[in-house]
Amino acid sequence: MTTVFGKIIKGELQAEKVFENERILAIKDIHPVAPVHILIMPKKEFANLQSVTSEDYPLLSEIFAVAQKLAKEFGIEKGYRLLTNNGSDSGQEVLHLHFHLIGGKRLGHIG
Ligand code: 5GP
Repeated sequence: MTTVFGKIIKGELQAEKVFENERILAIKDIHPVAPVHILIMPKKEFANLQSVTSEDYPLLSEIFAVAQKLAKEFGIEKGYRLLTNNGSDSGQEVLHLHFHLIGGKRLGHIG
């Protein structure tokens, strides 16, 4: 299933890219909830985290490494949130696995 993120990955839709390699793309969220709001996604299509199997765990590690790098670049390494919505009960809107990297302001407590 091709989503809006699939189209951005293929270059059919525009986005503000902040990181890209062969496997991963990171873009600025179109509706940021904080001064820094970046979406980090694998180029390979997975609906969400629940669809990822162990053969693709290295990709998840790489996404975390990209999150660390971008947190430094954007000056939020002292405090940020990295989250993924998974499935309808979470409010997931785009069915292409992505992690929100959010920071740059005091974030409300969750959990
Ligand atoms: P979800 O609820 O699926 O975890 O989050 C989807 C996110 O994608 C939302 O924060 C939304 O603002 C963002 N988004 C939706 N469409 C676009 C788009 O076309 N471009 C960008 N850059 N972000 C998008």
